[in-house]
Amino acid sequence: MHQFINGSYREGNGGQHQLINPATGKSVETLNVADSADVDDAVAAAKAAFPGWSRATPAERSEALHSLAAELGKRAEELARIETEQTGKTLRMSTEFDVPGSIDNAQFFAGAARHLQGQAAGEYSAEHTSMVRREAVGVIGSISPWNYPLQMAAWKILPAIAAGNTIVLKPSELTPGTTLLMAEAARDAGIPDGVINVVVGAGRVVGEALVTHRDVAMSSFTGSTAVGRRIMELASRRGNRVHLELGGKAPFLVFDDADVEAAARGAVAASLINGGQDCTAATRAYIQRPLFDAFVERVAELMSQVTVGDPTDPETDMGSLISTTHRDRVAGFIDRARAGGANIVTGGVIPEGLPAEAAFYSPTLITGLAQDAEAVQDEIFGPVLTALPFDSDDEGLMLANDTPYGLAASAWTTDLARGMRASSDIQAGCVWINDHIPMLSEMPHGGYKASGFGKDMSSYSLEDYTNIKHVMIDR
Ligand code: NAD
Repeated sequence: MHQFINGSYREGNGGQHQLINPATGKSVETLNVADSADVDDAVAAAKAAFPGWSRATPAERSEALHSLAAELGKRAEELARIETEQTGKTLRMSTEFDVPGSIDNAQFFAGAARHLQGQAAGEYSAEHTSMVRREAVGVIGSISPWNYPLQMAAWKILPAIAAGNTIVLKPSELTPGTTLLMAEAARDAGIPDGVINVVVGAGRVVGEALVTHRDVAMSSFTGSTAVGRRIMELASRRGNRVHLELGGKAPFLVFDDADVEAAARGAVAASLINGGQDCTAATRAYIQRPLFDAFVERVAELMSQVTVGDPTDPETDMGSLISTTHRDRVAGFIDRARAGGANIVTGGVIPEGLPAEAAFYSPTLITGLAQDAEAVQDEIFGPVLTALPFDSDDEGLMLANDTPYGLAASAWTTDLARGMRASSDIQAGCVWINDHIPMLSEMPHGGYKASGFGKDMSSYSLEDYTNIKHVMIDR
């Protein structure tokens, strides 16, 4: 059963959807998806649970979140297995990254629940005292993508409920398994029925019913920029708040004093993480001209050594993409770049010897593109890195900023002053120096420009799910 409403599993009433394992092309199970009446029931459960949960003390909410972290830990193996079966990512990644990252997030927000702070200030007269309270917003309607299903569910659910909200989450219909299991773990952790509800179904039907529901006070969303804009438009009809984590096109800037070997290794790891289906993945390498040839040669060599295949095999470096439809979309970018005269240095093919009905694609490096080429400007969301040379530092920084996106970026240099300049000049929500990808629960994640606004993880995220109230007392 694939809806989790008011503490119980049940079937949806919106018809059936086949869940496919993208690494085999075979059906995993049939989902009974939700319809708008199921969304009504889930929102009603969240609304009913709100008064009790929002009045629980921070210590009570903290304890419940610690228990949730423990319940997730008990299910670690099952969570990793389902994550891999539904996404095609390697079991090693699910086991070592997705599951422990989500448990760490639960532990972080268990602590953060007790640190929701207002302030007392600004006395109107000698007889008055003012204070600021941070209060829960209400029922949060959340929508998450397929690339990191468990972590994205964690990033949405945990800060919202730590701050005293209740939530209805719609995961991607391609990957609902671990989100449902997280809701079940929350119930077993003693989190009251109705605080966390999961509805599974298509974005156009279930997602839009959630965003436009009269009892949803705020929509939080992770996904593509196009859908994020649609959600903003729908939410604006009721004047509702939105919190949007959208697409990215991260630049990877290599200055001429960088350690080329470290930069090449970093670029391969950061462009192929999760098959490149990562909003912060390195996608555009800009290399200062003296290092360009050496960098390209080494990246191509390392990419050609990557083992693509069965995600459950511990020897596999990169599993499949999310679907053959998405694989064909990725391949389309490469085919058009090739037809336009670009140089596919390595990859650019569907690997041989793997099931034709599965969604594998080879690690790909492209040179010879113009800055305005679609492969440089648009989010491909696959294992594809473009490499372009630059001359002056100013030019490199200008190119790094020259897309609509602004989620993440990295700069590679042995000169800290150069790195610091890059960190302030690059318009992105995260800039790494001599690294690319690591994140931690304590630090905010979120975009600039077309990559959205609002923060995930960190105490900033907790605050995003609160209202600020001024209380004045005349003594
Ligand atoms: P998507 O936008 O297609 O779908 C995301 C979610 O929105 C899914 O649950 C989908 O069913 C739902 N949806 C689709 N249309 C909808 C509509 N009209 N109304 C309401 N909901 C709707 O994205 P995706 O393909 O699942 O994920 C990939 C995208 O997510 C990439 O653009 C990636 O950069 C982005 N992403 C961003 C972050 C971040 O933190 N900024 C993290 C992960 C993924």
